[in-house]
Amino acid sequence: MSKEKRVLNSTSLIRSFNVVSVLQTIYREGACSRTKLAEITKMSPATITRITSELLEQGIITEHGIGQSNGGRRPVFLKLSYDKLYIIGIQIRRDQVALGLSDLKGKLMSKSAYSPYSLEPNTLVRELVQEFNSLLEKAKVKKEHILGVGVAISGIVDSNRGVLLQSVNLGWRDVKIAEILEDNLDFPVVVENDANAAALAELWFGGAQKASNFLYLKTSAGVGAGIVYDRKLLTGPRGMAGEIGHIPLQKNGRPCRCGQRGCLETYLYLPDVLKRYQMETGQEIKDCFELFNKARSGDPVANQILEELVDTLSMAVSLSGGLLDLDMVVIGGIWANFKELLIDRLERHFQTVLARTGLHKKFSVICSTLGEDSDLLGAVGIFTQKWLTPPI
Ligand SMILES: [Zn+2]
Repeated sequence: MSKEKRVLNSTSLIRSFNVVSVLQTIYREGACSRTKLAEITKMSPATITRITSELLEQGIITEHGIGQSNGGRRPVFLKLSYDKLYIIGIQIRRDQVALGLSDLKGKLMSKSAYSPYSLEPNTLVRELVQEFNSLLEKAKVKKEHILGVGVAISGIVDSNRGVLLQSVNLGWRDVKIAEILEDNLDFPVVVENDANAAALAELWFGGAQKASNFLYLKTSAGVGAGIVYDRKLLTGPRGMAGEIGHIPLQKNGRPCRCGQRGCLETYLYLPDVLKRYQMETGQEIKDCFELFNKARSGDPVANQILEELVDTLSMAVSLSGGLLDLDMVVIGGIWANFKELLIDRLERHFQTVLARTGLHKKFSVICSTLGEDSDLLGAVGIFTQKWLTPPI
């Protein structure tokens, strides 16, 4: 039996395989009668009655309205109490480890963050376990109502095996992080790259809930993309899909740290952008808000820098939108704060490309609205996604 099934079959009610199937079915259907539950899950009516009674008793599901009768007794619909089941999201970064307890709708009920004492994996996990336990204690929720833990890490992740293959940010290589955390936390753990995680946050809790195919562009510490295709993550066989940061987009463009010229990352990576402003004006600015304000007040260098940024970003958006036949591109991270500057121009650029190439389709570009909770909700989204697409 796989490790995953073994964890799901633990003694806790909420993690027994049949109960999970019932909960997942009610989640997907929105509301479901006992008869329909038996039909979909292929469990006997007696098993469904037993499971639903236990779930009703714990307040995890509630009885709702009365359905249409087919002649016999009118069926009662069952709905999930979204605020009675929880997922814990963990985000691991070099400078910060953050934890959040969320309900099934992505409402963060409790969160904490700290700077890790050490980046050595075992030491980091020991400290993390302490924070995790204190979060649970403070939140005062029943441990058996927690479905599991999603972990977002910056780096290349083999999510199926739960292994962090390589993280330049943490200096880790081949760390079996899911297994180590499962052994220490006693919950099922799913791990994913942070850009993919942020894409899942948009899918479940953000602006892409109605999109089937979209790309999330993370523009914070570096540039990464999470691709959701047919409402599933497209990670590629080596977890490398979405590595868009160092594809040169501008011929003879700005030099990039990777040695090439014209990469998307060199136009979006904030320290590079700020350094460029300082080099050209001799004036130091501290953040992107200051740069944006300068551009607004007519500063030619700030405008030139932002012009180049939008131009390169437009190319990345058009390239991915056309290549992958996307419904939407979501811009996340720091540049998402500049919706007024970006959105119209990005969309206009893409529509021009479509018109020139004779293609016509619905396509939109939006900025993430999840704000500073985006990464934590991403970690929650990883588990939500896994929970709702169980292994056969
Ligand atoms: Zn580069």
